Amino acid sequence: MKKIAIIGAGIVGSTVAYYLSKSDMTVTIFDEGHGQATKAAAGIICPWFSRRRHKAWYRLARSGADFYQELLSDLKNDGIATDFYDQSGALLLKSRPEYLEELRELAESRLVESPLIGSLSVQTLAEAQKSFPDLAGFDKGILASGAARVEGSQLTETLIEASGFSLLKEKAELKRLSDGTYDVNGQVFDSVLLACGAWLPDILEPLGYQVDVSPQKGQLRDYYFDDLETGHNPVIIPEGEIDVIPFAGGKVSVGASHEKNMGFDLTVNERILADFEVRAQDFFPKITEAIKTRDRVGIRAYTEDFCPFIGEVPGLKGVYAVSGLGSSGLTTGPLLGKMLSQLVMGQQTALSASDYLISRYIKK
Ligand SMILES: Cc1cc2nc3c(=O)[nH]c(=O)nc-3n(C[C@H](O)[C@H](O)[C@H](O)COP(=O)(O)OP(=O)(O)OC[C@H]3O[C@@H](n4cnc5c(N)ncnc54)[C@H](O)[C@@H]3O)c2cc1C
Repeated sequence: MKKIAIIGAGIVGSTVAYYLSKSDMTVTIFDEGHGQATKAAAGIICPWFSRRRHKAWYRLARSGADFYQELLSDLKNDGIATDFYDQSGALLLKSRPEYLEELRELAESRLVESPLIGSLSVQTLAEAQKSFPDLAGFDKGILASGAARVEGSQLTETLIEASGFSLLKEKAELKRLSDGTYDVNGQVFDSVLLACGAWLPDILEPLGYQVDVSPQKGQLRDYYFDDLETGHNPVIIPEGEIDVIPFAGGKVSVGASHEKNMGFDLTVNERILADFEVRAQDFFPKITEAIKTRDRVGIRAYTEDFCPFIGEVPGLKGVYAVSGLGSSGLTTGPLLGKMLSQLVMGQQTALSASDYLISRYIKK
């Protein structure tokens, strides 16, 4: 029986653990956890309005959004609740009507390959208020009914628990042994899966690798309303950096920042979060009545061309890595986790891994 170590239990590591639990492999998961991007994420799954021209990236993003349906069905078949995911829709706001029309045309051209988008409709403020009464400050928006929001930490906890594998909350170090196996914190493994997010360079650089992965800080704030049912309100995506993300039970998140050159700094920047709140008031004035419950800070992983990668680490047989998921990793992460499980089990991957070649980003 093959012994596998998974290092990192964010969205990638927890998904690969869940799918490997359906094999006969023995798996141990290591997760240090501080600054994990998945726990801090806003959780918006809505890739179809992206104007990025990187075709392989877009294929991954739209297929990643679709893949949630397979993951949900697999979990439901195992008798596991999936209320971490809800297709409550997304309302995109633009300052000019022609920008809205361009967006609608773009998403409509993608409907055939991505029916998950659902219905697309341009809504007036009065129409939008029927599903989200407290909205204000815009004339029209475009609603995509199939967009979803995900509770990242609830999803990873669900997957790890469903896997039944043990999770060691410790920082892992990787060493290659002379017989071709690997030592991780004193235990020996046949294969090691690096799902370390922005921390991938830390684990590979001591082994002589250069890794094109850089950290980017992101923070957002969670609010709570005791008099508002927010469960099925759409996510609001205005122009600029902030989004307003309603979750079930009166919880609303506002964020998130994209802060470069901050390294792995996890301190909350009150000025940035207060500024987000002021900007959110334009569209959702009631935010001033909410109780601030929690600030979340996480570190995203970026590659130079903003595309994730997946594959066997060149020169380290049996060691596989996924990283570089950037700001859309809750969208692409589950599919990449599934693909990682397929690579380790010697199966064909859902998308061609050669479109996300690891050797472009990791060099000896
Ligand atoms: C504020 C914010 C908002 C976001 N919003 C969205 C969104 O709306 N939609 C979307 O699609 N994406 C969003 N993202 C992006 C998404 O969250 C990430 O791309 C994704 O979660 C990355 O997942 P991951 O598994 O690769 O890494 P992570 O979730 O960062 O997990 C990596 C884990 O590995 C652990 N680790 C690393 N090295 C070691 C080691 N040596 N030993 C032990 N453990 C180790 C870390 O501690 C961490 O727990 C957002 C991100 C942030 C920060």
